[in-house]
This record gives sequence, C-alpha cells and structure tokens, in this order.
Amino acid sequence: MPEGVRPSRALEKIVGSAAKPLAASLGITTPRELLYHYPRKLHHTARYSSLAEVREGEYVSVVVEVVQIRGRPTRRRGLYLTTVTLTDGRTRGEAVFFGHGKKMDMAIRKSLEPGSRVEINGVASHRYGTIQFKSASFLALDPETALERDVQNLHADLEALERGVPRSAGEEYLAVYPASAEAPMKLIRDAMALVLADLDGAGVREALPDSVLTERGLMDLDTALHAVHQPTSMDGYRDGLHRFRYEEAFLLQTVMARRRAQIATNDATARPGRAGALVDSFDAALPFTLTEGQRQVAAEIATDLSQAHPMQRLLQGEVGSGKTVVALRGMLQVVDSGGQAALLAPTEVLAHQHARTIADLLGPLGQGGMLGAADGATRIALLTGSMTAARRRQMLAEIASGAAGIVIGTHALLQDQVQFADLGLTVIDEQHRFGVQQREALRAKSTVLPHQLYMTATPIPRSVAMTFFGDVDVSTLREIPAGRAPVTTHLVPAAKSRWLERVWTKIAEEVEAGNRAYVVAPRISAGTEEEGADLIEPEGAASVLGPDRTEAGAGGASAAAPRASGAASMSNVTQVAEMLAEHQALAGIPQGVRHGRLPAEEKDAVMTAFADGRTPLLITTTVVEVGVDVPEATVMVVLDADRFGLSQLHQLRGRVGRGTEAGLCLLVTAAEPGSEAHQRLQILEQTDDGFVLAEKDLKMRKEGDVLGSAQSGRTRSLKLLRVVTDRALIARARQDARARSEER
Ligand code: ADP
Ligand code: MG
Repeated sequence: MPEGVRPSRALEKIVGSAAKPLAASLGITTPRELLYHYPRKLHHTARYSSLAEVREGEYVSVVVEVVQIRGRPTRRRGLYLTTVTLTDGRTRGEAVFFGHGKKMDMAIRKSLEPGSRVEINGVASHRYGTIQFKSASFLALDPETALERDVQNLHADLEALERGVPRSAGEEYLAVYPASAEAPMKLIRDAMALVLADLDGAGVREALPDSVLTERGLMDLDTALHAVHQPTSMDGYRDGLHRFRYEEAFLLQTVMARRRAQIATNDATARPGRAGALVDSFDAALPFTLTEGQRQVAAEIATDLSQAHPMQRLLQGEVGSGKTVVALRGMLQVVDSGGQAALLAPTEVLAHQHARTIADLLGPLGQGGMLGAADGATRIALLTGSMTAARRRQMLAEIASGAAGIVIGTHALLQDQVQFADLGLTVIDEQHRFGVQQREALRAKSTVLPHQLYMTATPIPRSVAMTFFGDVDVSTLREIPAGRAPVTTHLVPAAKSRWLERVWTKIAEEVEAGNRAYVVAPRISAGTEEEGADLIEPEGAASVLGPDRTEAGAGGASAAAPRASGAASMSNVTQVAEMLAEHQALAGIPQGVRHGRLPAEEKDAVMTAFADGRTPLLITTTVVEVGVDVPEATVMVVLDADRFGLSQLHQLRGRVGRGTEAGLCLLVTAAEPGSEAHQRLQILEQTDDGFVLAEKDLKMRKEGDVLGSAQSGRTRSLKLLRVVTDRALIARARQDARARSEER
C-alpha cells in the first residue's frame, strides 16, 4: 500500500473526506487519476415489478411485499434457516437466509415485518414451483421510497402499454472497481459521481483530436467517462473502454512520432561512402554471398547513412542470421566517408568476440598502418574496462586521432575520456540491455547526431516493436544462412533418474567425439540469482530441487530429487558443478564453471578454455546467452528449464549446432506433464521460429513484464492496452499519430 501518498487540492475540493483514503490506499491523488481508475467489470441488475417476469439465474432487483417470516433450525447443527415469503400482489416467492444460530433470523425480523415493502437484490432461481432468492441482499423500504418505486413501475407499465410492446425489465448497471477496505466500493462510486458532475473542476481535457474521434467513430471524453463509470448499457460501456484503449495507444504513438520527427529534423553528416573503397573491397573478399535478406537490409542501411539526418534503425534477427556482417558493411561505409563507427557490446566477452569476428572478416582491410595491410585499410580499436593502462592509452589515442575507424567496446566507451575524431555511426548490440541514458551518452560524443543502428537477437514481435519502438525503423533478418545444422529439442523429466543419467552419458559421448557441451542452471549458488537472468518464479511446479530444500537438509530429497544422479541441487551452478565433478559418467572430463559474479578476466579465461577444448564441459548461468559462438558445441542441457522464458531458452539453444554438427537441446524440468509450465516448454519441442516463440511468450506474460524486458527505460503505464491482442488498434493509432505529428 502506498504509504503517505497525499491527495491533491483539486481532489479534496471535489470529493472531500474521500480523498485521503483514495490516495492512501489506492494511490489515486488527482481527479484525473480517479477518472482513469477503470471498473474491473460491470454488475448488471434487471429491475422488475413482477415476480412472474423474473428469469432463472438472472441478477435482479425487485420490489415486493413481505407476507410472513418463518424460522427453524436445520438438520445441520447450528445452522438456522429463515424463510421470508414475498408477494408482488399476484405471484408469490420466497427469500431464504442461512445463519449460524438465531442472530441472522433476529436481524431480519428487526428490519422486515409482514406487510412492509422490501427491495430484494440477488440471483433468482425457480425452486419447488416458486421463485426463490438465496442469501440475497435486501433493503427495507420506507413507505415513501416504496411509493416512488411503485410510481416508477407504473410509468414503465403505461409506457409499454402505449407503445404496444410487452414491458421490458428495467435495467441497472453498476461499475465494479478495484477497491480496498479503506476505500470501499461505495466510497469510490460516490467520489466518482462527484468528479463526473464537475469535469471542469477536475481539469481533464480531451486528449484525442476531433478529426480522430470522427474518423474512428470514438466516443468523446465526456461521453466515454460517463459510459464507463455510470453505464446504462453494456455496449456503451464497451465502447467507452474502447475509446480509452485507443487513447492509450494514440498517446504512446504520439510520443514516438514526435521523437521520430524531432530526430529527423536534426542534422547528421551524410556518409554516402565511396566507390572502390572499403565496402567494395569487403564485398569482393567475403567468402560467401549475402542472403537475399542481408542484401535488402544492407541496402536500407546504406541509404539511411547517405541521408543528412540520423538513421534510427533496429536490426533484428536470430543469432547467426548474419546481422554483424550487415552492420560491419554499414560501418565501413562510414569509414569510407571519412568518419568512425563504434560498436557497443553489453559484455566484455561479446566485445572481444565482436573484435575477433570483425578482424577476421576484414582481414587486411582492418590492419591499417601495419605491414601487409590493404590499401586504404582502417584500424580496429577494442576498449574494455579490464585492459591495462598502457593499452588503454594507446586505444584512446587511436580513437581520438581517427586512426581507428572501427571502435569496439563495452560501456567503457561511454566514459568522458573517450573522444572520437569524428563519430558517424554507433551500432548497439543487444539494445535492450542498454538504457536510454546510455544511448544518449554515446550520442553526446558527437557534435552532430551520429547515425544509430540497434541490433538485437531477441526477436521482438511486430506488435511490441510497433508499440515500444515506434520511433525507429525496423529491419528483420528472417533466414539463417545455409549450412547451419538443425537443433533438436527434448524435454527430460527430472524425476526420471534414468533419463537424467542418459543426459550425462550423452554429454560424455559428445565430448568423446571432440564436441563440447553446456549445462545451464538458473542460479549461481543457493540463493544467488544471476544478474538479469529474467527468471520465472516457479508456481506450483517445484524447482528440480530448490535451494531451500537443499538447506532443509534431512528429508529434503523428495521424489523430484533423484538420488541416482547424485544431485544435491540442480538449480545452481556451484552445486551442479560439484555434483558433476563426482559423477562417474563424466569422469576425466575437465569442466569449466562460469557465472556473472566472476571477475571479467576469469570469465574470459573460462570461456577461452571452453572454446579451445581444454574444458569441453561448461557449467554456467545464462551469461552465455547472448551471441557467444563456439562452433564445436553440440549439446545444451538446461536445468530447471521451466524457470526460463521461452525466448531465453530459444536463445540458449541457439548456442549449439553452430558448426557443421547437429545440435541437441535437453530441457530438464520437474514440471508435471499437462501443467502449464510443461506445456509451455513443449512449444520449444515443436517450433524453432524465434518470432513465434516471442509472441507466445508475450501472450503468457503479464504486460508489465513485457515493458520490463522490451521497453528499455520507457516508462509508460498501459492500463487497457494489450500489446498482442490490440495490434490492429495500435497500428491505427500509429497511423493517426504520425499523420498528426507530420502536420505540425
Ligand atoms: P549474427 O550477428 O546475426 O549472430 P553473424 O553476422 O555473426 O550473425 O553471422 C553468423 C555466422 O554466419 C558468421 O560466422 C558469419 O560469418 C556467417 N555468415 C553470415 N552471413 C552469411 C552468409 N550469407 N552465408 C554464409 N555464412 C554467413
Ligand atoms: Mg553477432
């Protein structure tokens, strides 16, 4: 509960004493926030004057007369039954109430007496030939109110008679809100009514342009607020909510469109490249031909870079789809135009890997100033946090002088000491790991805005891209260049010790054959999460053997913890490593252990030993997730697989089958077959399309999670909008927002 949250003056002025509890308990501080506190659902009540009209199962409100009240103990001990016989003058019915002891009976008799009028609110059912209300709520009506209701009913009857139609039941709709003990439903409804009656005082303004309201046939703000909070029909309520859903999409898209328009007005240096320079030499030297998709994206990037306003492009494609090659081509175009290009990687390992890959791809083209370099060659500078002071100085000098056309680094590139001669392009790998601020820091390294290319291997569904990256252009590489071996995925039930044994012997066989294997566990050690691991907390489905159970010690080994495997815990790297070191099947196989808490040099050392085969078995957390490339790796075992998201597991299995040999991914899980967690994992057995998985992942997650993982620092509260299901609506809103932002 948000403690100490204070209501605004405006809210206090309109709703009085209700303001405090609204603020303290629901965090509603302004009239606007109250109006945007949407109902959870609608409560529908049919109003009747005659019992004969009441329909089975319907929630009704009916005014009737009390005939008699009888009470008796039931056969169940202590339970007392009170039956109130009712009449509308023609038809009889009854309301029954159960209470512990006679307290309820006495309370009923106190407020109702034969001959008095009562409003019954509840669900009707037909029992033993009469209409019965069970545990309905009732309101004794004073004679005056009763008379009013009678007159209302009479009018309705007369009206129906005049129009020659049967009298239809009057209806009442009531908004049901998320409420609390301090701010109960009635308080919210009353406060809402006060704010609705004083919309001018509330200071809410129509956010949607008239033209949009008309073109899209949406309710205006005033109408929609009433339709939602004081509904008179289900359709009106839905249309009202629809309008607000659209509003959310429109406002979000307007922010994106403005940002986009604003960036476009900025100047950037056009980097059209030069014929016969690095790009051409690079193309000529490539040992393969680019895929159709690569050619297309390369052309898009080349065009963008030639413009005098900054490129803002997101390049997405699975690991191995050839993004780096395409990005490098763009970097070379900038170098050919006299500028520098920087590639920003999220981790040291990846920075090193990029440097190696790029050095390989460039060959003599990247060895400027060295013996045997090609004509017009450039230099590659690598800057990370862990290099020696001397090396660092050298790199800084090469970056500042412009000698290094291609600069690769971690966030160390963002420091103030790093000065570029002429930064023309920044390529940001795995962009969701960099916040907006970091991006801005890099941008600030150039007097004019550099062109920007974001690369991500996490497939971003179109709907999400549109919602949260509405300000950038998106290029997608869908195919994986030929020659990639397939990866087969299987679920392994953790409880079946024989199957688990088979996993370890499979690893031994692969290592024997000269290959390498990964074993991934969710945690570093008992109780230590890997940073950014994005784990799913197990619900119901027990972890293979969680840390708490290990610590519980005696009796901790349940059926889910197969003793045969010698498993102490399979949730954390430390214990899995200990267990596997002792394991017979793996005897004599050197293993490496890697996680985010290790110092950077050690992480790299472990990775290198794995890559060159000194330790062909790597036990690790998800720090291997992004972009790591070891072609000899053929097996990926994920323990407690149900703890990971689908996209993450897909990324993990992308680590194997990167060479010529087929890959195998084994997902060990204690999730029961048929359970939601198990079904989720089965999707991985069925498809290897990262985009399909990302969509499915998204559907199964809560919206907040989507924001957390994909929005990279853009906070935006979406209450009604659902990124996946409202895709069409978001597309319309984007169209409208862009059209209006361009008009300015
Ligand atoms: P990504 O950055 O998307 O993971 P890379 O650009 O690193 O992909 O490419 C993955 C591997 O595939 C690299 O070894 C690269 O040299 C190779 N590759 C890239 N494009 C092609 C292609 N068109 N044909 C064959 N191999 C390619
Ligand atoms: Mg890559």
